[in-house]
Amino acid sequence: MHCPKCGQQQISDETRFCSKCGFLLSGVAEVVANQGLVPAQDTGLTGKADSPRRRGIKQGVFLFLLVFLLAPLTGFISMALNIEPTLVGIAVVLCVVGGLLRTIYALMFESGATGASLPAALPANQNRSELPPAQSIPASAYTSPGAWRDTNDLQHQPGSVTDSTTKLLQKDDQ
Ligand SMILES: [Zn+2]
Repeated sequence: MHCPKCGQQQISDETRFCSKCGFLLSGVAEVVANQGLVPAQDTGLTGKADSPRRRGIKQGVFLFLLVFLLAPLTGFISMALNIEPTLVGIAVVLCVVGGLLRTIYALMFESGATGASLPAALPANQNRSELPPAQSIPASAYTSPGAWRDTNDLQHQPGSVTDSTTKLLQKDDQ
């Protein structure tokens, strides 16, 4: 592999940075592995994010359902204060009309797409039901750096806390 910035040939395809100019090569290796396609970045929102339209409809339905809470509440207040139940009417109209308008607005003007250009980022020839290729090194590939335990500190491990207390008890018995 050659560095795309300075053209320096790299010792192996596994190198993360160009040995001459320090250009980050890990992304380049992925593009090469994907036949020139830039792999989709995992934003953490995949599958979780609602489209603005769905969110709008949810808000509209919520506002609509709020009438079942506000109507008895305003009715109770009107009775308690012994006033004309105009509050109930206002609450019902506000919730029903507001909820309907919010839903209609969401349906008519808000985008139904989830996230930013997520379907377009998928390669066309890739099976959509498949997971994207692994972009990290699996834990099974990890090898310990060998004799890391052979330090002087670890050779003289102190006994456990209960060790010394048992010794003290034995001393007391004598
Ligand atoms: Zn370079």
